[in-house]
Amino acid sequence: MSIVSFSISLPLDSDQFLRRQCPLCLRQFKIGTTEADRQSLIERELEAYLLQEGLEIRAESADATEADADELWCPYCGQTAPRDQWWTQEQIAYIHVFGYNIMAQIVNEQFIRPMKREFSGHRSGFISIKFEGKEMEYQEPWISPESDDMTIHALPCCDLRVKVDDDWSRPIYCYRCGFPHAT
Ligand SMILES: [Zn+2]
Ligand SMILES: [Zn+2]
Repeated sequence: MSIVSFSISLPLDSDQFLRRQCPLCLRQFKIGTTEADRQSLIERELEAYLLQEGLEIRAESADATEADADELWCPYCGQTAPRDQWWTQEQIAYIHVFGYNIMAQIVNEQFIRPMKREFSGHRSGFISIKFEGKEMEYQEPWISPESDDMTIHALPCCDLRVKVDDDWSRPIYCYRCGFPHAT
Protein backbone atom coordinates (compact mmCIF):
# COMPACT_ATOMS: atom_id res chain seq x y z
CA MET A 1 0.00 0.00 0.00
CA SER A 2 1.34 3.36 -0.97
CA ILE A 3 0.93 6.08 1.59
CA VAL A 4 2.17 8.87 -0.59
CA SER A 5 -0.13 9.27 -3.54
CA PHE A 6 0.65 12.98 -3.62
CA SER A 7 3.97 14.72 -3.48
CA ILE A 8 4.94 17.01 -0.65
CA SER A 9 7.10 19.85 -1.78
CA LEU A 10 9.41 21.62 0.60
CA PRO A 11 10.11 25.31 -0.01
CA LEU A 12 13.42 26.02 -1.76
CA ASP A 13 15.13 29.36 -2.24
CA SER A 14 15.59 30.95 -5.66
CA ASP A 15 18.81 28.92 -6.21
CA GLN A 16 16.83 25.73 -5.39
CA PHE A 17 18.68 25.25 -2.11
CA LEU A 18 17.02 23.38 0.77
CA ARG A 19 17.39 24.58 4.37
CA ARG A 20 18.95 22.08 6.76
CA GLN A 21 19.63 22.20 10.49
CA CYS A 22 22.49 20.47 12.26
CA PRO A 23 21.05 18.09 14.91
CA LEU A 24 24.14 18.73 17.07
CA CYS A 25 24.92 22.47 16.99
CA LEU A 26 21.43 23.48 15.68
CA ARG A 27 22.88 25.95 13.20
CA GLN A 28 21.17 26.19 9.81
CA PHE A 29 22.67 26.04 6.32
CA LYS A 30 21.42 25.21 2.83
CA ILE A 31 22.36 22.61 0.26
CA GLY A 32 21.31 21.55 -3.22
CA THR A 33 19.14 18.40 -3.35
CA THR A 34 17.32 16.46 -6.03
CA GLU A 35 13.56 15.93 -6.09
CA ALA A 36 14.21 12.19 -5.53
CA ASP A 37 16.41 12.94 -2.48
CA ARG A 38 13.72 15.10 -0.95
CA GLN A 39 10.90 12.61 -1.61
CA SER A 40 12.89 9.75 -0.11
CA LEU A 41 13.71 11.78 3.02
CA ILE A 42 10.07 12.88 3.35
CA GLU A 43 8.79 9.32 2.99
CA ARG A 44 11.20 8.06 5.63
CA GLU A 45 10.01 10.77 8.01
CA LEU A 46 6.34 9.94 7.26
CA GLU A 47 6.96 6.26 7.92
CA ALA A 48 8.69 7.06 11.20
CA TYR A 49 5.84 9.36 12.23
CA LEU A 50 3.13 6.80 11.41
CA LEU A 51 5.05 4.00 13.11
CA GLN A 52 5.19 6.12 16.24
CA GLU A 53 1.39 6.46 15.97
CA GLY A 54 1.09 2.67 15.68
CA LEU A 55 0.64 2.42 11.91
CA GLU A 56 3.27 0.38 10.14
CA ILE A 57 3.15 1.40 6.50
CA ARG A 58 5.93 1.30 4.00
CA ALA A 59 6.12 3.92 1.32
CA GLU A 60 6.55 2.57 -2.21
CA SER A 61 9.90 4.10 -2.93
CA ALA A 62 11.35 3.75 0.53
CA ASP A 63 13.76 0.97 -0.33
CA ALA A 64 17.01 1.88 1.30
CA THR A 65 19.44 3.16 -1.26
CA GLU A 66 23.12 3.71 -0.75
CA ALA A 67 22.53 7.44 -0.55
CA ASP A 68 20.11 6.99 2.34
CA ALA A 69 22.79 5.34 4.41
CA ASP A 70 25.11 8.29 3.95
CA GLU A 71 25.94 10.67 6.71
CA LEU A 72 26.25 14.41 6.30
CA TRP A 73 28.86 16.65 7.86
CA CYS A 74 27.79 19.89 9.44
CA PRO A 75 29.51 22.80 7.63
CA TYR A 76 29.82 24.67 10.94
CA CYS A 77 30.75 22.18 13.66
CA GLY A 78 32.13 19.42 11.42
CA GLN A 79 30.22 16.63 13.21
CA THR A 80 28.30 13.93 11.31
CA ALA A 81 24.76 12.55 11.54
CA PRO A 82 22.61 10.32 9.29
CA ARG A 83 21.06 12.09 6.30
CA ASP A 84 17.50 11.94 7.64
CA GLN A 85 18.27 13.91 10.81
CA TRP A 86 18.77 17.38 9.36
CA TRP A 87 15.21 18.76 9.37
CA THR A 88 14.38 22.21 10.72
CA GLN A 89 11.58 22.32 13.29
CA GLU A 90 9.30 23.91 10.74
CA GLN A 91 10.01 21.31 8.05
CA ILE A 92 9.36 18.43 10.43
CA ALA A 93 6.13 19.98 11.73
CA TYR A 94 4.99 20.44 8.11
CA ILE A 95 5.71 16.80 7.20
CA HIS A 96 3.99 15.57 10.35
CA VAL A 97 0.76 17.35 9.34
CA PHE A 98 0.73 15.18 6.20
CA GLY A 99 1.42 12.14 8.40
CA TYR A 100 -1.45 13.11 10.67
CA ASN A 101 -3.80 13.53 7.68
CA ILE A 102 -2.82 10.11 6.31
CA MET A 103 -3.61 8.62 9.71
CA ALA A 104 -6.93 10.51 9.88
CA GLN A 105 -7.87 9.24 6.44
CA ILE A 106 -7.09 5.63 7.39
CA VAL A 107 -9.01 5.86 10.67
CA ASN A 108 -12.02 7.57 9.04
CA GLU A 109 -12.21 5.23 6.06
CA GLN A 110 -11.35 1.95 7.73
CA PHE A 111 -13.01 2.40 11.08
CA ILE A 112 -15.32 5.35 11.71
CA ARG A 113 -17.34 5.24 8.46
CA PRO A 114 -17.91 1.45 8.44
CA MET A 115 -19.02 1.64 12.09
CA LYS A 116 -21.41 4.43 11.25
CA ARG A 117 -22.87 2.41 8.36
CA GLU A 118 -23.09 -0.66 10.53
CA PHE A 119 -24.94 1.05 13.33
CA SER A 120 -26.99 3.70 11.57
CA GLY A 121 -30.58 3.11 12.54
CA HIS A 122 -29.76 -0.41 13.70
CA ARG A 123 -32.47 -1.85 15.92
CA SER A 124 -31.98 -4.69 18.28
CA GLY A 125 -35.27 -5.66 19.82
CA PHE A 126 -36.58 -2.52 21.49
CA ILE A 127 -33.18 -0.85 21.71
CA SER A 128 -31.99 1.52 18.98
CA ILE A 129 -28.23 1.72 18.66
CA LYS A 130 -26.48 4.60 17.01
CA PHE A 131 -22.74 4.90 16.64
CA GLU A 132 -21.68 8.41 17.59
CA GLY A 133 -18.03 8.18 16.52
CA LYS A 134 -16.69 11.43 15.19
CA GLU A 135 -14.41 11.48 12.18
CA MET A 136 -10.91 12.82 12.71
CA GLU A 137 -10.52 16.28 11.24
CA TYR A 138 -7.85 17.04 8.70
CA GLN A 139 -5.22 19.70 9.36
CA GLU A 140 -4.07 22.30 6.88
CA PRO A 141 -0.33 22.01 6.22
CA TRP A 142 1.54 25.29 6.15
CA ILE A 143 5.21 26.23 5.95
CA SER A 144 6.82 29.64 5.37
CA PRO A 145 8.35 30.28 1.97
CA GLU A 146 12.15 30.04 1.80
CA SER A 147 14.01 33.35 1.92
CA ASP A 148 17.16 34.13 -0.04
CA ASP A 149 19.42 34.55 2.97
CA MET A 150 22.95 33.22 3.64
CA THR A 151 26.14 33.31 1.55
CA ILE A 152 27.06 30.71 -1.02
CA HIS A 153 30.49 28.98 -0.84
CA ALA A 154 32.08 26.55 -3.28
CA LEU A 155 33.23 23.13 -2.03
CA PRO A 156 35.77 22.16 -4.70
CA CYS A 157 36.58 18.86 -2.93
CA CYS A 158 33.20 17.41 -4.00
CA ASP A 159 32.24 19.95 -6.67
CA LEU A 160 29.33 21.17 -4.54
CA ARG A 161 28.07 24.45 -3.13
CA VAL A 162 26.72 25.25 0.33
CA LYS A 163 25.07 28.31 1.86
CA VAL A 164 26.07 29.33 5.37
CA ASP A 165 25.38 32.30 7.65
CA ASP A 166 26.68 35.59 6.21
CA ASP A 167 28.91 36.31 9.21
CA TRP A 168 30.47 32.83 9.49
CA SER A 169 34.27 33.30 9.49
CA ARG A 170 35.54 29.94 10.73
CA PRO A 171 36.30 26.99 8.39
CA ILE A 172 33.41 25.48 6.42
CA TYR A 173 33.34 21.68 6.42
CA CYS A 174 32.15 20.01 3.22
CA TYR A 175 28.81 18.39 4.03
CA ARG A 176 29.64 15.44 1.74
CA CYS A 177 33.23 14.57 2.74
CA GLY A 178 34.01 16.67 5.83
CA PHE A 179 36.98 18.49 4.30
CA PRO A 180 37.51 21.84 6.10
CA HIS A 181 37.69 24.87 3.79
CA ALA A 182 39.04 28.24 4.97
CA THR A 183 36.48 31.03 4.54
ZN1 LIG B 1 26.70 21.48 13.56
ZN1 LIG C 1 33.89 17.43 -0.07
